[in-house]
Amino acid sequence: MRRREFLILALGVGACERAKPELAARDDAPELPTAAPAPAPASPLGSLDDIPAVLRPAFSLTGHAPPPRSVTASGEPPQSFAEFLAEHPPRPRPDARTIAILPIGEYPRGFVVEYDAVRLVRSPEPELLARFISAWFGLPTTILPAMTDEPLERLPARELDGRRQLDAAALLEWVRQRRPADATCVVALTLEDLYAEDAAWVFGYASVDKRVGVHSMLRYDPGFDDTEARGPAFEATIRARALRVLAHEVAHMFGLRHCVHFHCLMNATAGIADIDRAPLHLCPVCLRKLWVVSGVSLVERWQRLAELCDELEQPQECAWFDACLRLLGVG
Ligand SMILES: [Zn+2]
Ligand SMILES: [Zn+2]
Repeated sequence: MRRREFLILALGVGACERAKPELAARDDAPELPTAAPAPAPASPLGSLDDIPAVLRPAFSLTGHAPPPRSVTASGEPPQSFAEFLAEHPPRPRPDARTIAILPIGEYPRGFVVEYDAVRLVRSPEPELLARFISAWFGLPTTILPAMTDEPLERLPARELDGRRQLDAAALLEWVRQRRPADATCVVALTLEDLYAEDAAWVFGYASVDKRVGVHSMLRYDPGFDDTEARGPAFEATIRARALRVLAHEVAHMFGLRHCVHFHCLMNATAGIADIDRAPLHLCPVCLRKLWVVSGVSLVERWQRLAELCDELEQPQECAWFDACLRLLGVG
């Protein structure tokens, strides 16, 4: 199946083209019933025979919840581990292993100017995002010098509800031309609102083939407009959303498509509520995909993530990663 070159991150929908159903030949002879047992459906995880025995418990399916109903009802095609390999996922070259984060303008602070109001919006510091992404992928992560506002003034823009929006595709092209040679992918972060194609607004825009994405963190702040009130823990809410979305989007750049197998960070999301419900971890199928492309040490990854979640006061996620470590006899 051909991958779409550009990935619109509007409401988190649609990383891939839907598979077209094959037309059945009408004159095929019908199957006759037999006493032979039906073959067991192939596991999306595949055989673990080629994995060292000491690491196989890391891919245990036990304890993983089924995907949310919205995911199974979406009709999105599955991507088993075997299908993932067959699609030749990109692997970081030895001389280009760095995940680059590019802050745009004043990120992580931004002002939203509307007809009659100016709002201050916030997002997590790039340093925190870089630490998290480095731990999550097991790859070096760097923060590039911030792109100044000046090029933004020259990019195509329009207005929505009195708010300026930037053309996401034009911004993506600007970032692509400045991608560092040693970066395996680059993700630009902005608090500007973005639009693309027919969408009123988009969370982001990415070229999986060119390994470049631009992402607006504006709408993760409950205070960015009047539709969602900021609660006392609004900064933790923003941080939780930003970490989830960033890991999900960067994982797409390594060939992981949406997960329909378990409740997993790679499930498709249809809005903020789905992002808030998403776990910070991967199911065994997606973990195996990430493991083969990044070469990350599973123990080191889980240790770093457990420490970070403890520091960020995320006890449930911390307990999850500690439990994963115990699967491998660590901790
Ligand atoms: Zn996605
Ligand atoms: Zn998964």
